[in-house]
Amino acid sequence: MKNNELNQRRLQATPRGIGVMCGFYAQRAENATLWDVDGNEFIDFAAGIAVLNTGHRHPRIVAAVEQQLQAFTHTAYQIVPYESYIALAERINQRVPIFGPAKTAFFSTGAEAVENAVKIARAFTRRPGIITFGGGFHGRTYMTMALTGKVAPYKVGFGPFPGSIFHAQYPNLLHGVTSEDALKSIERIFKADIAPDQVAAILLEPVQGEGGFNVAPGEFIAGLRRLCDSHGILLIADEVQSGFARTGKLFAMEHYDSKADLITMAKSLAGGLPLSAVTGRAEVMDAPAPGGLGGTYAGNPLAIAAAHAVLDVIDEEQLCTRAQRLGQQLVEVLTRAIPGCPYIADIRAQGSMVAVEFNDPQTGEPSAEFTRQVQDVALREGLLLLSCGVYGNVIRFLYPLTIPDAQFRKALDIITRALGH
Ligand code: PMP
Repeated sequence: MKNNELNQRRLQATPRGIGVMCGFYAQRAENATLWDVDGNEFIDFAAGIAVLNTGHRHPRIVAAVEQQLQAFTHTAYQIVPYESYIALAERINQRVPIFGPAKTAFFSTGAEAVENAVKIARAFTRRPGIITFGGGFHGRTYMTMALTGKVAPYKVGFGPFPGSIFHAQYPNLLHGVTSEDALKSIERIFKADIAPDQVAAILLEPVQGEGGFNVAPGEFIAGLRRLCDSHGILLIADEVQSGFARTGKLFAMEHYDSKADLITMAKSLAGGLPLSAVTGRAEVMDAPAPGGLGGTYAGNPLAIAAAHAVLDVIDEEQLCTRAQRLGQQLVEVLTRAIPGCPYIADIRAQGSMVAVEFNDPQTGEPSAEFTRQVQDVALREGLLLLSCGVYGNVIRFLYPLTIPDAQFRKALDIITRALGH
């Protein structure tokens, strides 16, 4: 039993702050299947937290990385640049839902992308304030912790945080917050905390990820755009989790008429290699002076090669269309389960960004316990599911969009049984 041994060694060698969800250890993985060191097989609906929209080790991505490995692995782009970085920026600039000409800068992690979006917004507007939302998640660095709208476990014991950051309400009909309420909460910040002409940016996830897969209503995004335009504030969309075909479009912001000024992306951008980016209106992106942006590993050539292959795979395998179809099938299965599962309080979906929320039918309170039970039952049948939500009472489904149909149907059957357990 290698898993047991490794658990012992892990507790001795690594700090408890790096919490680990699974008690088993990865041996190898292929598309939507993962095997542990004891030989158990799992259907992977976690996909490395939304990183593997193109699956584990897609042959196109593996080949692209191997080819780059034979050429060079690192030069530091800011010292000796390379074409693939420019070409990827060009491809993203063409496809991103941003008004007018766009420019892109690459980094390594999602948090780093968000940090840099804030730097760029402040440099452009010469204002300090940033408004974000309750339930939002933006990362674990100091700025992104401060921007995150969930205290436990992300912020406990780590203060003080950078200032000039204010949290508004995110619309959530199940929890009684309308788009109008949410927009009013920003007006309250303008009265109570900071004048609107001191606010550099409003930063939101168009679909909250860690916060529970809450989808921003169209009227909310339109209202934010109006507020931003009337006060000279930039709108930043954090698409680290919602990007790269997950919602049925390359970017979730494509579902809206209004556009963001800056978009952050990471995770599924490079199919498992560490790469993130900020794309924005060219004049905004050019605000920081030369040398103000970058990083030793930012835009690593192996990760850039992987990202090119990811874009090819998304197009060739029509993963946006597939995200819509698989998402619909999953929603149908969840909806059919409602009569046998009184805990289901809500089913939400934008393409394949699908979630089911559980409340205790007796008390109407969020039930993190039932959520864990569903995860446990599914795992015993070999299906790895992730939870999310401010109350930990939401299951989110993050299967690779490349999952074979038969394996997807098998997973849906496990989900049906887990909900009715
Ligand atoms: N923004 C969003 C919306 C995220 O979901 C995450 C990660 N879950 C981050 C930022 C941070 O990304 P990373 O962990 O790569 O720093």
